[in-house]
Amino acid sequence: MDLKIGVIGAGAIGRDHMNRIMTKLQGAKIVAVSDIHGDSARAVAEQYDARFCETGEELIASRDVEAVIVTSWDPTHEKYVLEAIRHKKYVFVEKPLAVSAEDCRKIVDAEIAGGKQLVQVGYMRRYDSGYTQLKEAIRSGTYGAPLMLHCAHRNASADESYTTAMEVENSAVHEFDVLRWLLDEDYDSARVSFAKKTRHSHENLHDPQLIQLSTKSGVLIDIEVFVNCQYGYDIKCEVICEDAVISLPEPSNPQIRSKAARSVEIFTDWKKRFAAAYDTELQLWINATREGRVDGPSAWDGYMATYTATICSQARDSGETISFQTEEIPEFYKKG
Ligand code: NAP
Repeated sequence: MDLKIGVIGAGAIGRDHMNRIMTKLQGAKIVAVSDIHGDSARAVAEQYDARFCETGEELIASRDVEAVIVTSWDPTHEKYVLEAIRHKKYVFVEKPLAVSAEDCRKIVDAEIAGGKQLVQVGYMRRYDSGYTQLKEAIRSGTYGAPLMLHCAHRNASADESYTTAMEVENSAVHEFDVLRWLLDEDYDSARVSFAKKTRHSHENLHDPQLIQLSTKSGVLIDIEVFVNCQYGYDIKCEVICEDAVISLPEPSNPQIRSKAARSVEIFTDWKKRFAAAYDTELQLWINATREGRVDGPSAWDGYMATYTATICSQARDSGETISFQTEEIPEFYKKG
């Protein structure tokens, strides 16, 4: 029997996820859709022969909805995830888990109080084949311990709605999650510096920025965030180990020889760059949900990513190096 899913938020990524569930993935179907824009949600619901729900709360309470996907606007994530926990339903929420560390902590507390892990957060880079190869290489121990990481998060251009704070809070938050997972340890301190501002930016965006993190064991990480780099969407990660340097593989696009030049396309769209990772992420979430477990990024991981963004924002605004006051991971979230 297919897992019956209700989706709250029929915007860009919500429609994308519904399309992959209904056309590519196995073992699930969309039975209900809700969005503050009733018309767009009604149209998507009709397309998939699903029901339209006036509110997210109505969708979560519906008897035919076995699991919930939350792809609405960031500030709504907390209330829908708490409501799903209250109804004891599995919930996949797009990143961020919630907009503040305090709100993430409320979700963690509610999940622990309910006694069952139900929440997965959409940090899909953990499912990218390049990052999984990098993790495997580090874990093998063959190359010695990781000492330093050089990373970059580049977008071709950012419009007027993209602000200085978003480099940390919306873009680098993916790095915070995937690097913590890659190294399997928490962060210790953060510093954020502004580079010389590019002429391609606008009044409300200081671009690029350099984020420096250190981990509890002393690994030093630098992350360049440059969202007006002009040439494409490009994600880099180089791990300097004791005995080798390991790099995130480039996406495998064909090499083209033409007009006396060799060229390989660089993606401009994040959806294309991580398309396979989204597929794997949701297929494994469906499989795990059907088996009654959560094995992807947990509410605790979501809390840690938002907490890291909060510390980095403080570091950016103060110009100081800020120390993390990270709590021990609760027993509830420790993997057997
Ligand atoms: P989007 O196109 O703006 O879609 C969000 C939809 O949710 C919009 O239709 C929005 O309506 C609606 N909405 C707002 N408040 C709502 C409410 N109270 N109840 C139900 N629906 C509501 O945004 P998006 O790009 O799809 O992003 C959606 C979420 O996914 C965001 O949290 C974003 O951070 C996350 N995301 C993650 C990734 C990733 O790589 N993992 C990539 C992209 C996006 P309005 O337009 O009126 O606000």
